[in-house]
Amino acid sequence: MTASIGHGVDEIAEAVKEQCRRVAFTYRTQFTNLPAEELARRLTDIAPGDLDMAFFVNSGSEASEYAIRTAVSYWRERGLPGKVKILGRTISYHGMTMGALSMSGHAARRPDYGSLLHAFSFAPPAYAYRFALPGESEEVYAARAAKAFEDAIQNEDPGTVAAVIVEPIVGAAGGVLTPPAGYFARLRDICDRLDVLLIIDEVITGMGRTGDWFASSYEDVVPDLLLIGKGMSAGYSPVAGVLLRSHIVEALREGSGVAPFGHTFSGNPLGAATCLAVLDFMEREDILANVRQRGKQLEEGLLSLATRYRCIADVRGRGLLWGFEFVMDQESKQAPDPALGAAGLFVDECLDQGLLVYPAGIAPLNNAVILSPPLVITEEETRELLAKLEKALRAMERHVKRWAAV
Ligand code: PMP
Repeated sequence: MTASIGHGVDEIAEAVKEQCRRVAFTYRTQFTNLPAEELARRLTDIAPGDLDMAFFVNSGSEASEYAIRTAVSYWRERGLPGKVKILGRTISYHGMTMGALSMSGHAARRPDYGSLLHAFSFAPPAYAYRFALPGESEEVYAARAAKAFEDAIQNEDPGTVAAVIVEPIVGAAGGVLTPPAGYFARLRDICDRLDVLLIIDEVITGMGRTGDWFASSYEDVVPDLLLIGKGMSAGYSPVAGVLLRSHIVEALREGSGVAPFGHTFSGNPLGAATCLAVLDFMEREDILANVRQRGKQLEEGLLSLATRYRCIADVRGRGLLWGFEFVMDQESKQAPDPALGAAGLFVDECLDQGLLVYPAGIAPLNNAVILSPPLVITEEETRELLAKLEKALRAMERHVKRWAAV
């Protein structure tokens, strides 16, 4: 997900070296710096709608924290200091710092810190494979899932809710849960009607991963705050950020300021220069076109595997972000007993083939995997990926048959 343009790209190393020679660090409350200014311009140019300010941090978790603070400050400046809650979804992940974890519906990562977390509540996910009713159309399910989201805000009392946070496609917590068409446009509408900010976490899906610069653009949705990380620097520097819509910036400018509190390394020139070099590379090589083409190839390959290997189901994703889950058989959709650790076992089978896949999902459905190859993957490498995956699936099919026989 992060090393999106591969390792050891010379021009990135050169850009980092060059910036290091010029100026590696400036303190953000006293100085601005050219690479950070330029990066903000470039990102707001490719971002949807009027997301026209950027604030930089050093990890996706910090981006989540900044979004929480900004949402709360925004409502205070608007004269509504009682709007302080953030609503997440029951299957979600936004980071390991306490605020970020508080709005993450990730059962495995929360229990040790329960007493330290904010008591935020959660709306149901959009997860058609498990939660759509038999025969329910995509459109009807999208409306029902969005309505459940609206009910969750109403239950909390919208007068106390500052924002909701959602991943466009749920990553680690769900295994690439891809929403039904129309769901996100409905969420945007609900947030507008109830006066709640919409935070979209594109730490995984942003910066080209889904074939657009941002997955939000896919449904023409403009979030109030958009989080980015991972592929932003392609792993060459620890950088993340938040893009803000103009109405947020204006409200905060009139009050205590847009970013009164940040971090020592926020917007440091070294990180910004890295991201600029990555953007240059991606634009010059037309990486988005590659993501779309190879994404299609991967999708077709995965769908074909799912017709031949009955232990996987619900091939889902977009661009170069794909996932599927394990089932005892495709007809019953029954998940393997969680104690059998299907996802972990499959990761090991893939490793034996020299292929890295990522285990995902939360109990009791912790049996999904994520495929997220570099965005520079070639046609031949995609074929190789699928061939290795098939060998691992052959082994997995044997495990599932053995489990079924017990
Ligand atoms: N949001 C999402 C959607 C993520 O997947 C992650 C990391 N996996 C984060 C936020 C947190 O990012 P970081 O690990 O850089 O703190």
